Amino acid sequence: MAVFDYDSALAESAVFAEVRAMESSGGSRLAARYRKELENIYTLTAGDARDDAAKKIHREWFAELGFDRIAPSAARDVVLSFHNVSRVFMHGADSPGNESADVHERNDAKTIVISILPGRFMDRAELKQYLRHELLLISDILSPSFGLRAADADASRRAPGSTPIVLVKDRYRLCWKISCDGRLSRMGFKGPIGRDAWKELFDRGFNFLPEDRRERGFDMLWNGPRLTHEILWKFAGEPRSGLAETEGAGSNSSNAYSPGSRCPLCKFPTFEWFPELDTIAESAILAIQSRFPEWTRSHGACRECVERMILIGKAS
Ligand SMILES: [Zn+2]
Repeated sequence: MAVFDYDSALAESAVFAEVRAMESSGGSRLAARYRKELENIYTLTAGDARDDAAKKIHREWFAELGFDRIAPSAARDVVLSFHNVSRVFMHGADSPGNESADVHERNDAKTIVISILPGRFMDRAELKQYLRHELLLISDILSPSFGLRAADADASRRAPGSTPIVLVKDRYRLCWKISCDGRLSRMGFKGPIGRDAWKELFDRGFNFLPEDRRERGFDMLWNGPRLTHEILWKFAGEPRSGLAETEGAGSNSSNAYSPGSRCPLCKFPTFEWFPELDTIAESAILAIQSRFPEWTRSHGACRECVERMILIGKAS
């Protein structure tokens, strides 16, 4: 698992906001202790030593308030595999429009960089929801089978069909996020907005499609297997062509490993069977079998399920 790291200014803002909230609701011993520790620092002369001491205090308080455990826990909840990410770095965003999550790569080292409003730490449950969503999108970006990183950069600057590129990008993001929250809801997690709200946004974004096609399209995104970057991009550019590549695929197939047939664990049609079950750790197999006693390697399973079980196996 990657190392989680936090910018000092973010830690300071988050801690400070929490202390202020404690104080405004009547004060607490914790808040008083924080103030005292901070006062002690200000007996030092201004300069690097004092700055370092302040950073250290906020780092400790960030941990004491449990803020450092939120992101790793969100990652454990949803992230299937971080594909060699060594570090997750969070820093403060100054406005909602500047919040983002992205992958930075130098040589072979990958870092996930999350810009976030410090005020989000005030509501841990909501922050965790937000991070699960962002991290699942990131895990798509990192996943070779999603195909975003392999996609031709030139092709991604051109719209498929004659739709303006801005519109294609908006629709693409909408569809991708719906697919992300659909998967989250299957894992048992609520997203920031629920299914009905996504459906409304989808209906509005694709209001020129007949109702039955909208129903089918939304259902594929929300309930279906994860679609690839290419399919989403093409649909965003030419919605009338539908999410056709996968519609109905595998419906009358009896081969467990064929694309579109159902994973025996999550029961969803999968287009991505885990390729090398023989090589995974015994702890992952045991994790699967403790939940599905009848299951053996020969039944196969989708990548999402297996990668999740590998993490659960490691943690147990
Ligand atoms: Zn599965």
